[in-house]
Amino acid sequence: DNLIKLIAAGEVIDSLVAVVRELVENSLDAKADRIFVSIYPETWNLQVADNGEGITQEDLPLTIQPHATSKINNTNDLINIHTLGFRGEALHSIAQLAQINISSRVTNDCGWEIMAENAQLQHIYPKPSAVGTIVRVNDLFGNMPVRRQVNPPFKQQLKKIQILLGEFALCHPHITWQLLVNDRLIFSISRSNSADKILPQLLKTIHYSDLKTIKKAIDTPYEKSISHLELVLGLPDRISRPRPDWVKIGINGRIIKCPELESAIYSSFHRTLERDRFPVAFLHLQTSPRQIDWNRHPAKAEIFLDNIEFWQEQIKDTIAEIFKLTDN
Ligand code: ADP
Ligand code: MG
Repeated sequence: DNLIKLIAAGEVIDSLVAVVRELVENSLDAKADRIFVSIYPETWNLQVADNGEGITQEDLPLTIQPHATSKINNTNDLINIHTLGFRGEALHSIAQLAQINISSRVTNDCGWEIMAENAQLQHIYPKPSAVGTIVRVNDLFGNMPVRRQVNPPFKQQLKKIQILLGEFALCHPHITWQLLVNDRLIFSISRSNSADKILPQLLKTIHYSDLKTIKKAIDTPYEKSISHLELVLGLPDRISRPRPDWVKIGINGRIIKCPELESAIYSSFHRTLERDRFPVAFLHLQTSPRQIDWNRHPAKAEIFLDNIEFWQEQIKDTIAEIFKLTDN
C-alpha cells in the first residue's frame, strides 16, 4: 500500500523541475512578489522562499495531508478555478518523496515550522521569520534511487528550471525572481509592470526589432464576462539563424501548449510577412476558468480551450492591428 502511494507520488512529481514547478505555483497562489529558488544538486536539497500571505499555524500540518487544499471549497469551485493549484496533492506527494520542512508566517502571528518525514508530521515549533513561506525539500527521491538515476543530468534540469521561471515571470511580471545553485546566484529577473520588460531579460541571444505590445479587454459573447488579451510581438532579424521560433502562450498565469492558438499566431504573422521570418511572441489570455479544460495533460501543460475559433479570430485581429494592417 505504501509502495503504491510512493509510485503514484513519483508519477506526478518525477523530477527536480516538477518539484520546483509545484512549489513556485504555490508561491504564486499566495500572491508573493518575491520568489527565490535555491538548489543544492549534490544532496538533492532545494528550497523555495516567498513573501506571500503565509500559512497559519493551524493549517501548516494540513498542507502535507492528501487532498489538502485551501483553494477549493465545493464542486462549483472546481469548474471555476482562479488559482494555479487546486488538487491539494503536490505537497503531500513531495512529502512522500523527501524529508520536508515548511516554515511560514502570516501577519499578526509569529512564524511556525513543521518538519515531516514520509509525509508524517514529526514536529511543529515556533520559528521567527518574515511573512511568507519557505519550503525546504531534503534528499529528494532518497527513497527512490531509480528515480534519481532516470532524472536527466543536473545541467539539463537547471536549464529547464530557468526556462520555467522565465515563463512564470512573463505571466507574472510583478515578481522578482532569483535562482541560486549552491548559494550562488545564477539567474535573476527583476519585477516590472509588464511582460514586454521581462521578455528582453529572457531573450538575450535573439535579436529582434522593437517589441510591440497590445493589451485589450474583450467582451466574450458566449459568457457574460470580460477577458484580457495581451500580445507582445517582436520581429526577429532577417538573418537570425537558427530561426528563433519563440512563441509562448500563457493562460490565466501559466504557460501552456495550445496548438490551435499557436497556429493562429503563426498563420496571422505569415499572412502579413514573408514566410521565412518568424515571430518572437508572447500571448497571455486571461479568461473565465470555465472555458479551460486542464485535463489534456496531467501536468496541466496542455489545455483545451472552449470557443477556440473566437480566440483565433481575436489573435488574427490583434496581430493585424500590430502591423497596422486591415484584412482587406
Ligand atoms: P494546492 O496548491 O493544489 O492547493 P498543494 O499541495 O500544492 O495543493 O498545497 C496545499 C496547500 O498548502 C495549499 O492549498 C495552500 O493552502 C498551502 N500552501 C502551500 N504552499 C504555500 C505557500 N507558499 N504559501 C501559502 N500557502 C501555501
Ligand atoms: Mg499547489
